[in-house]
Amino acid sequence: LAPEITADTTSTPPPLATSEESNYRSANATFVMLARNNEIEGVIQSISEVELRFNKKFRYPYVFLNDEPFSEEFKSRVSELTKAKIEFGLIPGEDWHQPDWIDEDLAKQGRDKLVADDVIYGGSVSYRNMCRFNSGFFFNQKLLQKYRWYWRVEPSVHFYCNVDNDPFLYMEQHNKTYGFTISLFEFEKTIPTLWGHVKDFMLQHPEYVARDNSMGFLSEDGGENYNLCHFWSNFEIADMDFWRGTAYTKFFEYLDSQGGFYYERWGDAPVHSIAAALLLPKDKIHFFKEIGYFHHPFTHCPSGKLYLDGKCSCQIGLNFDYQGYSCLRKWDRIYLT
Ligand code: GDP
Ligand code: MN
Repeated sequence: LAPEITADTTSTPPPLATSEESNYRSANATFVMLARNNEIEGVIQSISEVELRFNKKFRYPYVFLNDEPFSEEFKSRVSELTKAKIEFGLIPGEDWHQPDWIDEDLAKQGRDKLVADDVIYGGSVSYRNMCRFNSGFFFNQKLLQKYRWYWRVEPSVHFYCNVDNDPFLYMEQHNKTYGFTISLFEFEKTIPTLWGHVKDFMLQHPEYVARDNSMGFLSEDGGENYNLCHFWSNFEIADMDFWRGTAYTKFFEYLDSQGGFYYERWGDAPVHSIAAALLLPKDKIHFFKEIGYFHHPFTHCPSGKLYLDGKCSCQIGLNFDYQGYSCLRKWDRIYLT
């Protein structure tokens, strides 16, 4: 009585949208976004583009993290944007706030100095909390423990191209650990003593330094001085097992114990980047050149066939890759040789 439903086994499978409950992800991966309730408009922009360009097809889950409880409005508006699973997490205070062993007078002096020097976020404690959290704590949050891979997304970014091939599977299948789209120079005033501590760590723990590392990306003189190059961590596709592992754990703990997240204003970008560049062989770091991306004020816009294949919407003239402030040529220098 229902002849129309006779299966035609030669036809293509039904479109993804017909099975609402299914989960199409195939790597053990999640998006992760740290955000504040008042960033909701920017969050909606970013997630809408993630869905449009990639995740409506793959349905990887999302984990949202906040040092304050997410509002009902935040949760419901975000939930409208995707069929994928979403979890909202509250960061424990001890993973976020300035530790008691930090000398607040010294920290205040450090903040005042950066304010006087007009350094962005120079006077902000919450920004420092965020940088330290992203450096040493996000990957051990309860909601992230079940995942290995993550794609970090921030509010108010843009994704300009279709991502038809699963970047998580790419990472897994090509034995990659850390993926980036934009690299650039750090403000030296935020990390005056960081490199000295990195060198001390390498002397104390040569066993953690990878043989075929990317020192050539970080230094012009074999490691004596830091050239300030780093991967921009507002975009990351990476393996949390690296951050969870012994080498990085020791590295983070050593740096954290120096207090520079508060006495100076160490960013999670240089900390992650230096670790990835020195503790991993260089072939474990991947430049996602096909992923068109914007975080104020820089754009990575693919060109040529990648632009066409990705149906990209960025302006090629804005591509930052080989502009003066970009570090991609340093990456090419080590990676292409
Ligand atoms: P910038 O990219 O260095 O200019 O810094 P952002 O303001 O974009 O902050 C980086 C990330 O941390 C973004 O995802 C922000 O939403 C998030 N973030 C920064 N400060 C806080 C904070 O105090 N609380 C929460 N929950 N998220 C924060
Ligand atoms: Mn940002």
